[in-house]
Amino acid sequence: MARHGGGRGWYGKVVGAALGVMLLATGASVWTAQAGDTDDAPPKASAPGKGAAAKPVSAAIAHASEQGKRGVNITIDDGPDLKWTPQMLDLLRQYGAKATFCMVGTQAQAHPDLVKKVVAAGHRLCDHSVSHNTAMDKDSQAYQSKQILDAERMITKASGGVRPMYYRAPGGAFTPYSRKLAASRGMRPLGWNVDTKDFERPGTDAIVATVQRELPNGPTLLFHDAGGDRTQTVEALRRLLPWLKAQGYTFGFPVR
Ligand SMILES: [Zn+2]
Repeated sequence: MARHGGGRGWYGKVVGAALGVMLLATGASVWTAQAGDTDDAPPKASAPGKGAAAKPVSAAIAHASEQGKRGVNITIDDGPDLKWTPQMLDLLRQYGAKATFCMVGTQAQAHPDLVKKVVAAGHRLCDHSVSHNTAMDKDSQAYQSKQILDAERMITKASGGVRPMYYRAPGGAFTPYSRKLAASRGMRPLGWNVDTKDFERPGTDAIVATVQRELPNGPTLLFHDAGGDRTQTVEALRRLLPWLKAQGYTFGFPVR
């Protein structure tokens, strides 16, 4: 897709920089940061159903799992997509796994039936902006606000009224302003611990190996269900979901 086109190498750098900033900001390991995230999170709200009002949440970037130490958060970005999202939903159902879908506003608007299927299967929604501009942190606050709030509206409309519970900036391009704005709308800023790099199609083996190697970094795993041929992602999940279960992990959601 054009928005992901030639800029992918640069995307990687932005992600790396964003992660670096996160680590520097905490001055400690990701795991230490998670403890802080959990501590300053407000009491957990009940699952926001249809028409539920937005309750403010912490503006700190979340990484930890609601399932605690043996929890793992599967996060799936950039969809929904007619071809790949249904395949991932099938796999998740097969292994009893719940995931968080970070949706691009225009994709949600184009495929409301898929958004409703994601919600009906018990997964959670995450706002991934309207147009997936990985440099949106360099743009004005008015632009950031429009990207976040318009996507929130598009996703909520497509879902039939179920609100996104998280906000993940495209490419990790968060700003203090965008984190606070999302949090004020009940969307916890959402980071990741393991970038599977599935977007670069490194091969199914490489995606699986990355998760197995980097899981000690933290529980939030990043996959994609749109933006090109995601066969490798589907095949990697087909291997990773049973592997994670066998390792004693439970599939959960990021803390709010
Ligand atoms: Zn993305």
